[in-house]
Amino acid sequence: MRLSRYFLPVLKENPSEAQIVSHRYMLRAGMIKQQAAGIYSWLPLGYRVLKRIEQIVHEEQARAGHIPLLMPTLQPADLWRESGRYDDYGQEMLRIKDRHDRDMLFGPTNEEMITDIFRAHVGSYKDLPMTLYHIQWKFRDEMRPRFGVMRGREFLMKDGYNFDIDRDAALHAYNRHMVSYLRTYERMGLTAIPMRAASGPIGGDNTHEFLVLASTGESEVFYDAAVTDLKLGARDVDFDNREEVAGICKEFTTLYARTDETHDAALFDQIPENRRRVGRGIEVGQIFYFGTKYSEAMGATVVTPDGSKVPVEMGSHGIGVSRLLGAIIEASHDDKGIIWPEGVTPFPVGIVNLKQGDTGTDAACDGLYKALKAKGLEALYDDREERAGAKFATMDLIGLPWRITVGPRGLANGVVELTSRRTGESVEMSAEAAVDRVV
Ligand code: ATP
Ligand code: MG
Ligand code: MG
Ligand code: MG
Repeated sequence: MRLSRYFLPVLKENPSEAQIVSHRYMLRAGMIKQQAAGIYSWLPLGYRVLKRIEQIVHEEQARAGHIPLLMPTLQPADLWRESGRYDDYGQEMLRIKDRHDRDMLFGPTNEEMITDIFRAHVGSYKDLPMTLYHIQWKFRDEMRPRFGVMRGREFLMKDGYNFDIDRDAALHAYNRHMVSYLRTYERMGLTAIPMRAASGPIGGDNTHEFLVLASTGESEVFYDAAVTDLKLGARDVDFDNREEVAGICKEFTTLYARTDETHDAALFDQIPENRRRVGRGIEVGQIFYFGTKYSEAMGATVVTPDGSKVPVEMGSHGIGVSRLLGAIIEASHDDKGIIWPEGVTPFPVGIVNLKQGDTGTDAACDGLYKALKAKGLEALYDDREERAGAKFATMDLIGLPWRITVGPRGLANGVVELTSRRTGESVEMSAEAAVDRVV
């Protein structure tokens, strides 16, 4: 992408409405534009990152054997009357009437609708286990939308629902979600710690939240410092193997890690003092096992192998897709701007032309751009007629992992400069070597 032909409305000034660094940088880097309180347009750079995050979520859901579908944003109120949540949900639910005076709502979550789909089409143990998920916009009329995409009113969520024949199978689905989420967050460069949580309006008695440690997080967290060293890494997990998956969950949930809602001071005090930590965290996901809460209320039953009919066992599992952009930036930035982890960066590399209009420099930049493209990498090429300082500032702000700087002086010696955004280290090398290094 040539920057001269792109739409990257970078702001020079710090927007006064942004209280935390991720919100500030998302506005300054031209990633989002607020349209109403907690409602945003995703400008091209922000949209690219959002799509990369979605892609990782899809890939990891596929690895766990979960099936994507898409449900609508608007839902009929009647479904929620069946579960009893139409009245319970309160003011966070945006209620709408259509032209025929029918009660509708903008979905804050989808337990009722997925249960309705299930009961219409599935009736036998033979079709189980089954996990369906979608990535769809949600609306919650939050009392205090703030911090940009962190607490929006309209936000993008991955929500998945498992259907199983019995409790053990449903707990396996729960564990499968935990492991797939661990891998999902690690691929985004995040350490997200599963913490025992209390169930909210969705209900249920077995639930973990995934928290990214950050001083600006809205949750108070208590944990054993050793949990931050746990890594799933590139383990080849067999998601059908119940023992293996349960073993990984045990590994990640045995050390103390809780939010304030479930914090137990007596247990916490048993951790060696030098490992006790109190801090703040951003909730980037949550998994729930709730059994037959919705299936019983809505009549979603399955026939078991012995011919009896039982309500299907369920759980629901969510990832805050749009909130993740904020969480990643909170976890990875410096005073010049964002530092994107490779897994989610909007472009893998930027090219800075120090002398736009100079035939040799322009040709070298074009060559680099094509060489990167041939290797499957789309560079963001700053081909504007701008001072070098302004170009560097833009690259630092938008945080691409690599910058290749091309100028006449280097080219005379056969070199370009490759700079790592994370370390700030610059090395001169041939253009070919720079391409190889970035790939
Ligand atoms: P919170 O405690 O932050 O209000 P929640 O517990 O109400 O979140 P869930 O119902 O667990 O949210 O939804 C799944 C995920 O969706 C959350 O873990 C979070 O990452 C994300 N999420 C929830 N509310 C918002 C919001 N208003 N804006 C952006 N993301 C959100
Ligand atoms: Mg909430
Ligand atoms: Mg919560
Ligand atoms: Mg939650």
